[in-house]
Amino acid sequence: MTYQLIQQSDLSANILCPICQHHVVDWTQEQYIQPCEHTLFIAMDLGFEFVTDRFEANMLQSVDELHEDDEMNIFQAITTTPYPQLTIIQTDLGVQNLFRYIGFSSVS
Ligand SMILES: [Zn+2]
Repeated sequence: MTYQLIQQSDLSANILCPICQHHVVDWTQEQYIQPCEHTLFIAMDLGFEFVTDRFEANMLQSVDELHEDDEMNIFQAITTTPYPQLTIIQTDLGVQNLFRYIGFSSVS
C-alpha cells in the first residue's frame, strides 16, 4: 500500500483538497467540514468524522468496529487500507500529540 503523506503545521489554516482546491476544512463555516468528491475520509486520532462508503469498504475493520476497539489506531487503520492513489494530509490538533488526517484520491 502506498500513500503520500503531507504534513500541514498551521493549525488555523484551511485544508484544501490537493486535486480541486476545495476548502475541505473551512474554519469560516459553522459546519467547518466540507468534503469534496475527492475526500475519502476525515479522521482524528479520537475517531472518524467522515468516511465514504468506497473507502470504508476497503478498510480491514469497519469504522464502527474500530471505534469500539480499545486498541484503536486510526493512523494505522487508514494507512493499511488498500486504496489506489491515496494522499493524506496530516494536521496537528494542537493538543496531546493528536492529529487530524484527511484522505484524498482522484480514484472513485
Ligand atoms: Zn476535491
